[in-house]
Amino acid sequence: MPTQVPFPGVAFFHKGQRSPVITAMGKRLVAEGCGKYRTGPGPEWTDVDQQSFAAWQRKLRFEGADADGIPGRVSWDELHVPAATTPGGRVASPVPGRGVTTPHNKKGPQWILGRHTGADYAAPKGAECVAVLSGSIARSGRDGSFGEFLVLRAGGFDFYYCHLSRKTVEGGSVRAGQKMGEVGSTGHASGPHLHFEKRPAHGGFGSDVPPKW
Ligand SMILES: [Zn+2]
Repeated sequence: MPTQVPFPGVAFFHKGQRSPVITAMGKRLVAEGCGKYRTGPGPEWTDVDQQSFAAWQRKLRFEGADADGIPGRVSWDELHVPAATTPGGRVASPVPGRGVTTPHNKKGPQWILGRHTGADYAAPKGAECVAVLSGSIARSGRDGSFGEFLVLRAGGFDFYYCHLSRKTVEGGSVRAGQKMGEVGSTGHASGPHLHFEKRPAHGGFGSDVPPKW
């Protein structure tokens, strides 16, 4: 059973919003007999999406403002919109638009193991950090080196997102591309960047592998 897309929030559903999540939602509405589409469904949020979702809310016996076609948490969760799967759900960078600035395994005395255990993505404080794959938040913590960090577990691996200035997820499942936090320099960091590290699931410090996904 594929993971389900978590409720993206009421503000997500506005004219001009484009997302594969909206296509996936539309397909589920059609499957439930609530689709009002002449063509599609497609990735852009339209009045027809709203009319279709309103039909779904009425099917759930919601009334009045609760059946206005704007998804709420309950009606969204009941629809079970499947999350995009890889490779379709794969995103290009954990910090969209940014590339690696210090590679994995680079040697140097500044690192405890004499080598860099992850890949760094330098970016301004506040730049968004996203899930590279769909998975779940296995851990949220803080320590002296990694600062504020999150661990995304996906495909049998743990992906560490470190030095965050802010976390925007607490736990639970996340979909590929979903924002999880923001770049910062908490812990041991000379400037704002994401330290992105990959280990086998449950792997300790030093079990890192090349951070590809
Ligand atoms: Zn690093």
